[in-house]
Amino acid sequence: SAKESGRNTYRVFENNLSQAIKRRHKLANELHNAIPDRQMYLVYQPVISLVEPDALGFEALLRWQHPELGSISPMEFIPIAESSGLILELSDFVLSRALEDIGNIKALLKNTPHFSTEKLRVAINLSAAQFKTEDLVSQVVDQASHYSIDLRHLGLEVTESLFISEKAMACQVLESLRVLGCTVSIDDFGTGYSSLAYLSTLPVDTLKIDRSFVDEIETSFNDRTITLAILRLANSLGMDVVAEGVENQAQLAFLEKQACDKAQGYFFAKPMQLKELPEWLASPAHMQKKA
Ligand code: C2E
Ligand code: MG
Ligand code: MG
Ligand code: MG
Repeated sequence: SAKESGRNTYRVFENNLSQAIKRRHKLANELHNAIPDRQMYLVYQPVISLVEPDALGFEALLRWQHPELGSISPMEFIPIAESSGLILELSDFVLSRALEDIGNIKALLKNTPHFSTEKLRVAINLSAAQFKTEDLVSQVVDQASHYSIDLRHLGLEVTESLFISEKAMACQVLESLRVLGCTVSIDDFGTGYSSLAYLSTLPVDTLKIDRSFVDEIETSFNDRTITLAILRLANSLGMDVVAEGVENQAQLAFLEKQACDKAQGYFFAKPMQLKELPEWLASPAHMQKKA
């Protein structure tokens, strides 16, 4: 009967809910072991310039290889890390590993005539918690000097919500980091609330168009309109635009036609481990895609 099936549905729901709670508890308990046990690592997704053929960037994305549960998405464990305070430890790991890897990627690019080592930029995602003190600036400076990395190679991605929760401190810290050479991007742009006037006051170089708009760029008039508005907005503020989540040639063609500066997505490459980069760099497939 309908009543019975309703009851069953409820039981399934309740069951899934308690499973989800159990999983969250387990992850929260085990997250602090993940760095010492070497379960955390970074993958790198290429960011392709649509205007400068020799400029190549990457976004560093964190991965957790759990001994029993396998690979766990940052969408799942970053919020847990944020609510448990472990985010600062994870973020330290990301910063130092990315800076170390910049040296390695530069060395790889030296053997890749197509790309300039000077223009290499590797971006990390920052969490709002890192802005609660001014420590971030000295941490970046210390780690960069430890690995002998010029900060022009480091990009920083923040979300619009940072400027709502920590505006004064965030602006001050990001401005100091820009003076040192870092570039600052607003991630997932278009999903927040930034107005033109507001945006012009922020220390930001680049807007990253959220993947949800790029996804339906071919079929949704709204998403196309929003994308065009972001491109125009960025242009009038002297900012660059990166389109996230480009998965096919049609999306890329639209973005190139609209003078979007950069693109990132599965169409070019999925995020890769450092050891996979030489093969990707050597394959001409990613060059042909832009033509
Ligand atoms: P994000 O910074 O917006 O990163 C882009 C996400 O889109 C990545 O997911 C990437 O794998 C995915 N992506 C890229 N191209 C495509 C595509 O063509 N199609 C589809 N469907 N997806 C694509 P990922 O690696 O799962 O990361 C999710 C989010 O977790 C990131 O979103 C970022 O907000 C957060 N995150 C990742 N690493 C870190 C980190 O080191 N620190 C902090 N605080 N957050 C991180
Ligand atoms: Mg990002
Ligand atoms: Mg994003
Ligand atoms: Mg421009």
